[in-house]
Amino acid sequence: MADVFTPAKRSAVMALIRSRGNRATELRLIALMREHGITGWRRNARVFGKPDFVFRRERVAVFVDGCFWHGCPRHATMPANNRAFWKAKLARNAQRDRDVSRTLRKAGWIVLRVWECALVRSRAGRTTARIVRPLEGRQATR
Ligand SMILES: [Zn+2]
Repeated sequence: MADVFTPAKRSAVMALIRSRGNRATELRLIALMREHGITGWRRNARVFGKPDFVFRRERVAVFVDGCFWHGCPRHATMPANNRAFWKAKLARNAQRDRDVSRTLRKAGWIVLRVWECALVRSRAGRTTARIVRPLEGRQATR
């Protein structure tokens, strides 16, 4: 079945879906950080690449990456329709993620990318530990 949208329209539609998906995963990470007593983060800080969470004092930036949009190695899937379009689009997303991470690291940030699927209960301990570790490291060197 052909896509009912033109590629441009599809892109606009999916951008909306993405922003909604992100909000849910961000809220999930907020819940985990609260549970684990992680404080000092801000949302929507004006930092290059728009990290989902920023610990400004420690210069730690956290992105919550959706498995589909950012190509999680465990859950990345390729839609059957418009394969070429999706392949190019998802490759661009991955490239942008790498560029943003590299630019932030060059500017002295520690960049953490947390997969959406790492927010499940069974992986929550490891995920929050990934955030706590660099925060403690940076606090120790201050
Ligand atoms: Zn995943």
